[in-house]
Amino acid sequence: PETGKVVLEVEAIRKEFGGLVAVNDISFTLRAGEIMGLIGPNGAGKSTTFNLITGVLEPTSGLVRFQGERLDKLPAREISRLGVGRTFQHVQLLPTMTVLENVALGAHLRRNVGVVAASLHADRRIEAELLHEAAVQLERVGLGDYLYEQAGNLALGQQRILEIARALAADPVLLLLDEPAAGLRYKEKQELAAVLNQLRAEGMSILLVEHDMDFVMKLTDHLVVMDFGTKIAEGTPEYVQAHPAVLEAYLGG
Ligand code: ADP
Ligand code: MG
Repeated sequence: PETGKVVLEVEAIRKEFGGLVAVNDISFTLRAGEIMGLIGPNGAGKSTTFNLITGVLEPTSGLVRFQGERLDKLPAREISRLGVGRTFQHVQLLPTMTVLENVALGAHLRRNVGVVAASLHADRRIEAELLHEAAVQLERVGLGDYLYEQAGNLALGQQRILEIARALAADPVLLLLDEPAAGLRYKEKQELAAVLNQLRAEGMSILLVEHDMDFVMKLTDHLVVMDFGTKIAEGTPEYVQAHPAVLEAYLGG
């Protein structure tokens, strides 16, 4: 999509778990070629918001539109096929498979031929295509030297970038990344930021949940801040950083 065009619209989305309102009528808009941050203290509802957008959870109320199309009633696989890629808060790689095979499974998803590892070998021609696509995505994120390494042997920072490559293999328009910088060393964070900046320059839209304020402030165009399920502030990093409610949520406890 054209830069600046609305890619994702979240409208008054709500999720209740029993008596707990985990996400309380949250709204925001994400535009093409933008990196948007979703931040807030632990338990604020960030991962739940991701799960509502990606169809892992069904909202109690509210709606999600992606490129004009309603997502909020669709199953996760359909949402992924429409062009919404994601990574999870906890690394979800197959550690004994190679880097290349892990990403080939992501490409496999888009073809809608099942996700079972065994079936990856079912058709030689498709397998070769998937492996080729996987290698292209791994080159794109700078992991071209690690194709035949076991995924579990990579450093955490590389595993996070590998997960992004796997999401890219399904050819997304929008990437949702849940705490990609968590636990990374300073240099790994810089490498990750470089990959995300490059993807943005290529026109990718990215929605990022992140704890590391420094990382978020340098990287994002636009931020939504949540606390106890509610949106407490929204705007540029500079604006949000100085917002009293944000300072209160982070420092006031
Ligand atoms: P964050 O990602 O911002 O740390 P979460 O979205 O994971 O927060 O959680 C928001 C709130 O919802 C928390 O209070 C959490 O305990 C609760 N929660 C999350 N998932 C579930 C679930 N599946 N069942 C019940 N409560 C949940
Ligand atoms: Mg979370």
